[in-house]
Amino acid sequence: MGQLSERRVLVTGGAGFLGTHLCERLLRDGCDVLCVDNFFSATKGNVLHLLDNPRFELLRHDVTFPLFVEVDEIFNLACPASPIHYQVDPVQTTKTSVHGAINMLGLAKRVKAKIFQASTSEVYGDPQEHPQPESYWGNVNPIGPRSCYDEGKRCAETLFFDYHRQHKLRIKVARIFNTYGPYMHRNDGRVVSNFIVQALRNEPITVYGSGKQTRSFCYVDDLIEGIVRLMHSSDAVTGPLNLGNTAEYPVLMLAEKIIELTGSRSQIVLHPLPVDDPQQRRPDITQAEKLLDWRPQIALEEGLRRTIAYFAQILSA
Ligand code: NAD
Ligand code: UDP
Repeated sequence: MGQLSERRVLVTGGAGFLGTHLCERLLRDGCDVLCVDNFFSATKGNVLHLLDNPRFELLRHDVTFPLFVEVDEIFNLACPASPIHYQVDPVQTTKTSVHGAINMLGLAKRVKAKIFQASTSEVYGDPQEHPQPESYWGNVNPIGPRSCYDEGKRCAETLFFDYHRQHKLRIKVARIFNTYGPYMHRNDGRVVSNFIVQALRNEPITVYGSGKQTRSFCYVDDLIEGIVRLMHSSDAVTGPLNLGNTAEYPVLMLAEKIIELTGSRSQIVLHPLPVDDPQQRRPDITQAEKLLDWRPQIALEEGLRRTIAYFAQILSA
């Protein structure tokens, strides 16, 4: 750590949904934050309110190219997370995960920084084991439309563990399950923001497939707390650690809940199920509970209320 400054922290993908929350949290914790983003799936708008803070710096940069900065910690979040966005340019998505990981791990090695990787429940693919513990190796199609993301993230995990074994890097890998909340883009395309925006506009709610497929939704504040605890845990705790909420809901039930909470006049319409859409997903968080003393505190209804309030405000602005 430098003598003259606070803990210097790099957040890649820092202007995205999770990145913005993480930058805010790290600033509150007294860190110097360097936010790096190429604005592929976010805009500067998310972090505008941080630009006046002397401990915050924003850099437009694509992590598929090397970066030379001096930092103590790296949170590698850069990668579009919504299926709609990561499938726009699948080659770039794989490059972001794989070349991005190589570049950030190279940087971490050079400056001896501790490095966090935002991995994903997608490493389990369409899981045949339920709920999913970290020991499950997954059921991933290597050549489908979701593969650029799933396999890119799997390869990034491989790189993290090889840098750990080969170069003794201090790594922290979290497998994040569906997370939602304020700062999601209104056109993000993921289910919670889609349904809330549609409901607030009284437009049809687009349920894909029968809506019987399930997800487990974690409110963003809970997730950020888990990420910070993981980063501060002992070096022996490398992960991969599942971080997510264990309450599991069919997508159709989520649509009905959002209509109820918004008092919307929207009708539910069924659309075709996207290729390889996982049928079920729920984290086994025993490891995170044991190693981080972490478990989500915010139930779906409360999290949805907060997220609805955010979208109501930005849609009326
Ligand atoms: P997001 O799309 O809102 O944020 C990703 C950010 O990365 C965006 O700001 C985007 O512009 C930036 N980015 C993309 N490619 C880049 C590149 N090549 N160089 C620099 N910046 C780049 O998504 P999010 O939900 O905030 O996700 C953040 C991370 O967490 C991602 O790595 C994602 O895979 C992971 N994750 C998120 C969830 C979730 O439910 N939110 C679940 C699992 C994993
Ligand atoms: N989904 C939906 N309507 C939408 C967007 C998504 O029914 O407008 C479904 C999608 O098919 C999936 C689930 O909601 O079964 C979660 O999708 P999301 O894109 O949020 O994330 P995923 O977990 O699939 O990466």
